[in-house]
This record gives sequence, C-alpha cells and structure tokens, in this order.
Amino acid sequence: MNNNKNLEQTADILRLAVPQMASLNIPVTPANYAVWFEYFAETNLNLKRAIDGLIANEVVFTAEVNHGLYNRFIEERSPEVIENVQIETQILINSLFNKIEQLSTGTEAFSTNLNKFGDELQQDPTPETLNNLIVSLASEVESVLATNKEMKQSLDTLGSELTSLKGEMENLSKVAMTDELTSLNNRRAYEMFATDQVTLFNEQHVGCSLMVLDIDHFKQFNDTYGHLVGDKVLAYVALALKQAVKGEDFVARYGGEEFVILLPDTKLSDAVTVAEKIRQRIAQKQLTIGKENKQQLGHITISIGVAAIQNGDDMDTLLARADEQLYNAKASGRNCVKY
Ligand code: GH3
Ligand code: MG
Ligand code: MG
Repeated sequence: MNNNKNLEQTADILRLAVPQMASLNIPVTPANYAVWFEYFAETNLNLKRAIDGLIANEVVFTAEVNHGLYNRFIEERSPEVIENVQIETQILINSLFNKIEQLSTGTEAFSTNLNKFGDELQQDPTPETLNNLIVSLASEVESVLATNKEMKQSLDTLGSELTSLKGEMENLSKVAMTDELTSLNNRRAYEMFATDQVTLFNEQHVGCSLMVLDIDHFKQFNDTYGHLVGDKVLAYVALALKQAVKGEDFVARYGGEEFVILLPDTKLSDAVTVAEKIRQRIAQKQLTIGKENKQQLGHITISIGVAAIQNGDDMDTLLARADEQLYNAKASGRNCVKY
C-alpha cells in the first residue's frame, strides 16, 4: 500500500537526516528535524538551496540559524511534519529502551562478577587474593552505582523531552486540523471524525446525520465585493454554523465555500430541522462591513443537502448522498434544504 511506501521513504530520509544533523551538531528537536526532513525529501527546493549554501559557506548551525530555517521554510505544518515528530518521538523512546537495556546488562555483568567472586572465595584465597577481590568488588559496586546515577539522569532528561514533544505534537495536530480562514475544523479533521461515526454506527448502531452546505452564487458575490470581503463572509458563515448547533455536532469547512455538519446520534428529521433553522438564519442576516458597518452587502443564502447514515454506508457513500441532495437543492432554485 501507499502508506508502506511512504513509511519506507520516511525511514530512508530518517537514516540520512539524523547522522547529518549529528555531524553538524544540530539537536534533533521536532522543529530541526522538520527542516532536515524537508531537506532530504527534496520537496522544498528553496530550503535545499538555502541549506546547501550554509554548508558551502561553513556556517555554524546555531540555534538562531536553525530557528531561522524553521521559520522561513516550515511555516505550513504539513501532515508530513507531524509524522516526522512522531518518528522523532519513536527515536527518543528507542533510545530510552536502549538505556534501560544497558542498565539491565550492567547489572547482569555485576551479578556474574559477584558469582565469580563467590567461587574464588570458596577456594580458600590468600590474604593478597582476598584484598584484590575486595578492591575490584568495590570498584565494581561503584561503577554500577555510577551507571545507575547516570541512567537516572538520562531517564529524567528523556522523560522531560518526551513531555515537551508530546505538547508540540498536540499543538501541531491542532494546527493541521484547523482551517486557517474560519478556525473551523478542516476537511482532514472531518474525515477523521466521520470515520469514527461510521465505526460507531457499524459496531454500536448509533446513527448520525450529515449536512452539506454550500453558499449560493458565491462567485458572483466575490465578483461584486471582492475576494477579501468574500473571505469575511466565509468567516461569518462559519461562526453562524458553529452557533447554530450543539456541542457534539461537528462543523467543518470542507473546502471553498462548502461546509459540512455531522450530527452524531441524530435522525434525519431532526437534522433537517436544524438545517432549516440554519438556512433561515443566514438568509435573514443583513450583511454589512466597514466603519460603523456602513457598507451594505445585502444577503447571502445557502443550499443544504441532508442524509442519514444507512446500513452498508462508509464515509464516502454517506457524503455522496448528502451531496446529491445538495445538488437537488441547487437545482430547485437554491436557498432551500433537501433530504
Ligand atoms: P452555486 O450557487 O452553484 O454554488 O454557485 P457558486 O458561485 O457559489 O459556485 P461555484 O462553485 O461556481 O463557485 C464557488 C465560488 O466560491 C468560487 C470562489 O470565488 C468562491 N470561493 C471559494 N473559496 C473561497 C475563499 O476561500 N474565499 C473567497 N472569498 N471565495 C471563495
Ligand atoms: Mg456555491
Ligand atoms: Mg461549491
């Protein structure tokens, strides 16, 4: 599958990136790793050129340089970047396990040595041998204690690194799941939520309904008032949708001027009622903009298609049915709900 191939490529890049970073004394933080991942993935030619230039000029990769690279080139936190952070966490966990393994082999060696001492003691040692045994036993104990202390320190460090990575990962996921313009969930987030809802239906027979909403003649609106005003209207619609539904209902911007609302544990007729309320609320709103809201923009309307989940549905078939109803609504003159 594609995923495997991706994973393989990611692993290849990992094998190149980590040693290179080590040789340039660059700490493997999520941000730095994201930069170097892109470098070896060769997906961002500007980034590659910039780094090659730095290397050619023997520039030291200080924290500032690293930070600058990250800010300049990794602004858009792609899912790939998140995957990288996950891999990096994996590296840390592996190194944690290695340490633990070292710890237990250290102790094993210690107990083997202890047994050896025991054997030698039974052979009636001379005072000299005994003295030697005691000296080496003491140094053995000391080294195990030192190892343990060092181990504890690295475990502590690893622990706090993992905690901050986890925070960063959560933050990155949030960014990757949010639509920038409207602050709504984006399509990716919707797809994850919808997948869960389909599973819930298949396994526990909890139904759900889906609305697909599309602004009517929005191209014309943009042509009349400009794209920036159009963007403001999209943000307004997003807010209106959010305010019109309950907490569990999942509102997302699916793309362009199209939104979806997934209503868990909701039957078709109830979803239609909600849809109708939303449609009316938006159609009634007198849109204004500018200083003291002087400029009148008139009204916008939306069309909505609604469908409820059925046996045999997956995310795509459910969406296709709601979409068909949206098409129906458009064909019936727009500004209406069809189901
Ligand atoms: P219909 O009633 O059939 O949906 O007509 P429409 O004009 O809304 O549909 P169409 O799909 O032809 O055009 C959608 C328009 O939405 C095109 C584009 O100008 C606008 N649009 C999509 N995304 C954005 C955006 O992010 N910002 C702004 N301002 N406009 C957008
Ligand atoms: Mg439209
Ligand atoms: Mg559209």
